[in-house]
Amino acid sequence: MRLAEIIALRPVPAAGLLATLTRRCPLSCAHCSTSSGPRGEDTPGDALRRFVGGFAPADRPEVLMLTGGEPMLRPRLVADLAALASAAGTRTTVLSGMFFAGDGRVPARIMDALRHVDHFSASMDVFHEREVPRSAVFRAMHRIMDRGIDVSFHVTGTAADDAYLADVTTSIRSTFRDQAAVLVNHIRPVGRAAAWATARTVTLPGAGEEGGVQPPPTPCAMAAWPTVAFDGTVAACCNQRVVDARPVPRHLRLGHIAEDDWAAIHRRCRQSPVLRTIRTAGVGSCADCRALADRPADLATAERAGARPAAAAVDMLGARLQHEAGAAALLRRYGSERYAPLVLLGGGGGGAGNSDGAGGAAGPGGHGGSGGADGSGDSDSISDSGGADDFGDSGRSDRPGSPGRASGPGNASGPGGASDPGGAVGSSSHRSSRRSTVSSSSSAPGSSGSSGSSRQEASA
Ligand code: SF4
Ligand code: SF4
Repeated sequence: MRLAEIIALRPVPAAGLLATLTRRCPLSCAHCSTSSGPRGEDTPGDALRRFVGGFAPADRPEVLMLTGGEPMLRPRLVADLAALASAAGTRTTVLSGMFFAGDGRVPARIMDALRHVDHFSASMDVFHEREVPRSAVFRAMHRIMDRGIDVSFHVTGTAADDAYLADVTTSIRSTFRDQAAVLVNHIRPVGRAAAWATARTVTLPGAGEEGGVQPPPTPCAMAAWPTVAFDGTVAACCNQRVVDARPVPRHLRLGHIAEDDWAAIHRRCRQSPVLRTIRTAGVGSCADCRALADRPADLATAERAGARPAAAAVDMLGARLQHEAGAAALLRRYGSERYAPLVLLGGGGGGAGNSDGAGGAAGPGGHGGSGGADGSGDSDSISDSGGADDFGDSGRSDRPGSPGRASGPGNASGPGGASDPGGAVGSSSHRSSRRSTVSSSSSAPGSSGSSGSSRQEASA
């Protein structure tokens, strides 16, 4: 499965399910949006298996995206979930920080798990490269490609003109002969967070609590894919504050994997009037969106707008148009505009409107994500120190030369770390923020609503 196909599905309600497998990660990057480190919660494995096992051929997501933290710390769970998903026709993709690839090889347990997945993405940025050398990541990715698995890179840099982005994207294109797609994000100015697979912070001039000019309202495509949090709660988007908040704002909580099946989550995602309004008109900034729970009048307005007879049709039309516009079009909004065409490298569709070809952007790159070297060792036999599913806590990177906590500019992202406004494309690590205004009247997707209230720091 090509990255472009996955990203083109990102605006389609319930076309994908994001599932975090663990907050743990061998690294402890200072820029991590999920505050991942050697210790942390593991999403209940058996509940996840039951939930994914409940997918039916006639009612299933197209894509199951596994992230973290570092999802490959639980290779057995990755294999089980991918196999269960496949039985219903759902394809699985994984985003990893490549902690295991310090010597360029892929441990047998990880390679065995990857036999079941349809796509594998490596997260790279300047901080991760301090932990796992680029050449080692490339060698490991070639080994995975050699097994017939489609691969891509999620890279993060500080801005479009970041020299790192130009360098790393050129390096990837040359090394993989344009057969590996590249998704480029820009680091966002949000705490120890970053944008997941595709988002960048878009701060509109004059916008902000300081009293600037209100930006135009913007629909939020990130409210399309449910996200399973570390405790099994299912949130309506991958905004890290939504995923981590307890309680999750009522209008952004879809259920729990121990209590609900996919059919119920799917129905709530598509039919929630408030989510329809968020997807088609926007409701202000992510902070405004979350705060709707404390603003009954605004919440009621959003609910009325999304309950109008035409709202469902507008929602579906917007999703269809965005899907047809394709992956590069979505990334021009939510990722790095300059590098958006690189998502088409290697082919794979991604919407009817993608005619840009993968040629374009040539520049340096960098992504944020979970990277991190790991010290566990040796190549083809990572030890089994963990529980039934995973590597336990031993995956920590103690490799000589490993700088430990990466200190870096702002917030990188990583697989798993979602930043504020939900991640764009998918996985949990990179996310962006965006701003829009919630309007009480839903406008067509892609256009901004009207009378809104505030802005939004959304990501995608
Ligand atoms: S506006 Fe932000 S908080 Fe609301 S659904 Fe979108 S990403 Fe989530
Ligand atoms: S940014 Fe990625 S590699 Fe770093 S701690 Fe977070 S999940 Fe791990």
